Amino acid sequence: MKKLISVYIHIPFCAAKCKYCDFNSYDDIGHLQEEYVECLLQELDMYKDVLQQHLVKTVYIGGGTPTYLTDKLLARLLCGVRERMNIDDNAEVSIESNPGTLTKSKLTLLYQSGVNRLSIGVQSLDDDILNCLGRIHTTKQFIDNYSLARKVGFDNINVDLMFSLPGQTLEKWQETIKAVVALAPTHLSCYSLKIEENTPFYRAYEEQRLVLPDDKTDRQMYEILKLMLAQEGYHHYEISNFAKPTFACHHNLVYWQCQPYIGIGAGAHSFVHNQRYVNEMLPRRYIQKTKQNTRSTVEQKQISYHEQMSDFIILGLRLIQGVAYQEFYRKFNLTVGEVFPGKVDRYIKMGLMEKDETHFWLTTRGIDISNQIFIDFL
Ligand code: SF4
Repeated sequence: MKKLISVYIHIPFCAAKCKYCDFNSYDDIGHLQEEYVECLLQELDMYKDVLQQHLVKTVYIGGGTPTYLTDKLLARLLCGVRERMNIDDNAEVSIESNPGTLTKSKLTLLYQSGVNRLSIGVQSLDDDILNCLGRIHTTKQFIDNYSLARKVGFDNINVDLMFSLPGQTLEKWQETIKAVVALAPTHLSCYSLKIEENTPFYRAYEEQRLVLPDDKTDRQMYEILKLMLAQEGYHHYEISNFAKPTFACHHNLVYWQCQPYIGIGAGAHSFVHNQRYVNEMLPRRYIQKTKQNTRSTVEQKQISYHEQMSDFIILGLRLIQGVAYQEFYRKFNLTVGEVFPGKVDRYIKMGLMEKDETHFWLTTRGIDISNQIFIDFL
């Protein structure tokens, strides 16, 4: 039986750069789209051997804004992807999108090409906030796009939201959650705004031109989110992710469970045979190198046994169910206590973790300071 693998494909194009965004995405290289898509397929060819030996269980096309690509290029990409790998019949095939880039023809093309999970990044359903974030769309465009996607046939739709946004009150946040939930998406990813360096928001924040909810309000927003989504039947399965039963994102679970994946495109990461590879970040250089038929890898690292164990704990603790003792032992032939003596019990005493016979996990207070706990397991 073939081993399973996942594939991530990065599309670095966006219609406009949002003011908070430090992702590997650009709003001034649209003219490179065609060359870039050809390079993605060429890079997949370089993975021919690995792909032939594996069955692909998830494909995730992320960005940037994948749906910024023209219909013709999306068709070329999706068809080329299928030709180059054995995709499992039950595979999850996801694509990220933004309102304002979805048309009936594009959605139909995606659906008919086998994309079975659509992720829509709306971030807020408050037009003033959307405008402040530098988003290209309005709430109405999101609702229209969402309805169109449903009509076309998508029954697995994720919506991305952000909280702790400039000018956002608890009431406004509640209204956004309520309005999104009324549309009944199968999945929600909800992140608190982080001010990243080299973004317009960072400069505005430094110059005290950006007023954000304080830490207490941020945590209240998170609590409200959990409560409202639980009432609507969403299962909180990862710190920032919620899903209706059976709709957890299989691709992201691959990352959190330290399973292998290949990353294609500018800045993409791969994790195969306990080696981590990082591709050239800049799309122009990525294109240049790929055209010469050389891998654009700029970093390759063997993950040490200890790093593998740390990653397993840190990523596993992002899951609400936590880390399974048995699974850790099965993978590393050592117990959690042997590798990290006393740590879990210490956090339990501090009220930051809990455990039962099979798992240990972060409590609500533990989640609030999860980054500090993760560092302790490095
Ligand atoms: S649409 Fe997404 S990737 Fe593009 S600039 Fe905005 S936040 Fe960044």
